[in-house]
Amino acid sequence: MEYSIQPIGPITSCFREKFGIPRQPGLVKSAQGAVELFPPCDREEMFTGLESFSHIWLQFLFHEAVADGWRPKVRPPWLGGKKRVGLFASRSPHRPNFLGLSVVRNKGLRKTKGRLYLDISELDLLDGTPVVDIKPYIPYSDRLDTATSGFVQFAEEQVDVVFTADAAFACQCYQQSYGRDLEKLITEVLGQDPRPASQRCKQREYGMLLWEMNIRWLAENRHFTVFSVKKKGRENI
Ligand code: SAM
Repeated sequence: MEYSIQPIGPITSCFREKFGIPRQPGLVKSAQGAVELFPPCDREEMFTGLESFSHIWLQFLFHEAVADGWRPKVRPPWLGGKKRVGLFASRSPHRPNFLGLSVVRNKGLRKTKGRLYLDISELDLLDGTPVVDIKPYIPYSDRLDTATSGFVQFAEEQVDVVFTADAAFACQCYQQSYGRDLEKLITEVLGQDPRPASQRCKQREYGMLLWEMNIRWLAENRHFTVFSVKKKGRENI
């Protein structure tokens, strides 16, 4: 049995590298992106009726996991990265067909410079992720009030995030230029604590890319201080 899949288009996302991406959709409300629709799926008629759904399912390829392959057992972050579970009991990107599934908010179609985009938010996807299908989320059948969630229990406690005056000012300048609330996005992303479980007790500096900005912060236990927000490639200026 062999089938080939042609992606319908790539994701444009605020997440420009894997570190910092939330572990599931819906956790970072300010996360924004779009599906850029490639022919033959760039026909507006294919989306007629979708505007009445607040959320959509995206099926996509974990394209940045392919090179590392997959293993039958994985260590999910929900278990502190210590215990192993079967791959099919996890949402790991490293799986036989590298297929992912996320419910994201539907922000509607947009045409820019002759290209068709479906704007989305609350995503957990890397920039460039190839999307293979889009479907409406239907609460009537998709919301399961009696479902149990095994070892994945409650949302983790948020970490406390503060900004130095310089970093807060850089976020204000960014908002004036791009119209995006970068300070809110950083606060929500860091609030999820992107550190690997093994590093959570250490005092250490970290960096991540959001949009075209390089963000640096100091982590001390569950307190983070964002001290640098600079355009990528201009960090030393
Ligand atoms: N909601 C999806 C699912 O359940 O299939 C994804 C869950 S997966 C645990 C989310 C993580 O996948 C993110 O934190 C990020 O590290 C990683 N990721 C996102 N996009 C990716 C891509 N295109 N290639 C590889 N890894 C990716």
